[in-house]
Amino acid sequence: MSKENVKKKVREILNSYLEINNHRKTTERFAILDAVYDLTGHFTLDELEKLLESQNFRVSRATLYNAMKLFIELRLVVRHRFIGQTKYEACYANGDHIHQICTVCGTVTGIYSEEILHAIEETKCKRFRKDGFSLYIYGVCSSCQASISRQRNKLKQQKQNKTDENR
Ligand SMILES: [Zn+2]
Ligand SMILES: [Zn+2]
Repeated sequence: MSKENVKKKVREILNSYLEINNHRKTTERFAILDAVYDLTGHFTLDELEKLLESQNFRVSRATLYNAMKLFIELRLVVRHRFIGQTKYEACYANGDHIHQICTVCGTVTGIYSEEILHAIEETKCKRFRKDGFSLYIYGVCSSCQASISRQRNKLKQQKQNKTDENR
C-alpha cells in the first residue's frame, strides 16, 4: 500500500470512529494523525511536536497526548516503552517488524525476519484471534560493542605500561 493510501485509510478509520461516537471532527486530530504517518519508524512526542510546529500547527501537550491515546485505542499507533524512553510508531499496514534494543545506549532498530513471521503465523493461539505481534530482542549494538572493546584495550594497555615500568 502506498503512503498516501495508508494515510487515506487511517483518516477514514478516525473519521468513522468520530462519527459513530458523535465526537467533534477537529482538524487538529487529523493533522496529528497525518504527522504520525509522515514520521517513519519510532518517534517521541517531542519529535512529533516539532514536526507539527514546522507545519505551523501548534498543539498543547495535553491535546497531543489525548490524540495519541485515541490512536492507540484505534490501533493506529503503538506505544513502546523502550529503555528510559517512551516512543510511538504508526502501525497501520506497517508490517510486523522485530525491535533490536541496545541495552547500553538504548538505540532501537527494526528488522524483518521471514522465519519469525512464519513461526508466529503457524503458532496456534488458544481461544484467541491474533492481530499482530511485537517482539523485542535485547543486546548490544555494534557501536557500543566497539567502544566497550576500545575501553577494554585501553585498560589492558595501562596495565601493560605499569608492568613495563616496574621491570
Ligand atoms: Zn548501543
Ligand atoms: Zn517498531
